[in-house]
Amino acid sequence: MIDTTAGYVRGRNRRSRIRNAFILTVIAALGTALAVIVSPMARAADCSAGYVGLTYDDGPNPSNTTNLLNALRQNGLRATMFNTGQNAQNNQALVRAQRDAGMWIGNHSYTHPHMTGMSSSQMQSELQRTQQAIQQATGTAPRLFRPPFGETNATLRSVEQQLGLTEVLWDVDSQDWNGASTAQIVQAAGRLQNGQVILMHDQYATTLNAIPQIAANLSSRNLCAGMISTSTGRAVAPDGGGPSPTPTPTGPTPTPTGPTPTPTGPGGGTCTVTLSQGSQWSDRFNLSATVSGTSNWIVTVTVSSPQRIINTWNGTATWDGSGNVMTMRPNGSGNTFGFTIQHGGNRNWPSTSCRVG
Ligand SMILES: [Zn+2]
Repeated sequence: MIDTTAGYVRGRNRRSRIRNAFILTVIAALGTALAVIVSPMARAADCSAGYVGLTYDDGPNPSNTTNLLNALRQNGLRATMFNTGQNAQNNQALVRAQRDAGMWIGNHSYTHPHMTGMSSSQMQSELQRTQQAIQQATGTAPRLFRPPFGETNATLRSVEQQLGLTEVLWDVDSQDWNGASTAQIVQAAGRLQNGQVILMHDQYATTLNAIPQIAANLSSRNLCAGMISTSTGRAVAPDGGGPSPTPTPTGPTPTPTGPTPTPTGPGGGTCTVTLSQGSQWSDRFNLSATVSGTSNWIVTVTVSSPQRIINTWNGTATWDGSGNVMTMRPNGSGNTFGFTIQHGGNRNWPSTSCRVG
């Protein structure tokens, strides 16, 4: 009698537990479904329609940049910040915050003048001082330049080329500088097509408030915020990441053509670094180093006296005591970095080696 009752009770409890488990499962499933609907960040980005370049000019500004970076991060967007040199110089921590938030940093002149009436040397000063201010803040000099007011000419383009800068204008003007409302800024971003670039600024509340809707609009069109290519000035997938499938290596390992490349990494795998010639001047030359085999690389570059590396980009450089050995690591800009060697009469290329980090 007691046993029967106990069995009945146990049975009811078991049925009750099963029913509760079922209800919990349904709630969990609903919760997951809701989370997916509510938060676009919960699903993988679909970039099947391509990439667009979001750009924010005239920063960094103490009153706005932190909010701008937070809004971009919260909405899963990366952008290119065209800083003026004087703002970068005065707000170096904010320049580092831009980099640390995954943004790309471009040169927008030092004092934001109308440049087309300037002499070549005045232009050079505007651009070079900005390169230095940003390099001082982040360790990396920009590769992209946007002329103030979009005003350019052959002299300016020649100065840009001497400094290894690619000029970037825009396809869509958000008109935020001209009093556009948040809705109008969102509407402008809605016109962006694959590869195109939109002009916005790091100082307006309307621009800041547009970010969630811009993110939703791009996502609804399977577009993603990309980086701006230094070779074409067009928006492309970010280097060293993004949803593009990992290419399958085919055929034999490519033979490096630069001097003394290759070697090995401990355990995990090997990598190869290949140098190629960039711009050359009477006193200096640029080299570009492309790493294959890993995106987690550590490359050492050894120059011989009296050479000196005076500029680097697209990597994080550290130096040994002599200043002749540079160790370069990825900084989120992909697997190609560059540097400028002031040759002092020695035009030999440096020796390089690569290991997996
Ligand atoms: Zn500007």
